[in-house]
Amino acid sequence: MRRATCLFEAAAWNYAVKPVCACGHQANFNPHGLWWHFQKRMWDDRLGPARARFWCRRCSLQQRRRIRPVRLEIVRQSAGDIELAFPPEREWKRAISRFRS
Ligand SMILES: [Zn+2]
Repeated sequence: MRRATCLFEAAAWNYAVKPVCACGHQANFNPHGLWWHFQKRMWDDRLGPARARFWCRRCSLQQRRRIRPVRLEIVRQSAGDIELAFPPEREWKRAISRFRS
């Protein structure tokens, strides 16, 4: 596996993104929808800053506050990954062509 440093690279290389909480809860996200979610909001998609945008659902239910994951892992995609709305085809193609140039 190549070493993705941001959500866009994870998407370009088809890796899922997995936030891991200290409580042990984790979830796999499809990277394309995740990248687009960040892109629309103009959020920094580098893995460090991106980590602060996630919070654990289980901890928030139990503790009534948002707990950030301890890390984001880059893993292989699988069928059960959480899919947020995908980027429009032209947006994705534009981003990919910027990436390759
Ligand atoms: Zn948690």
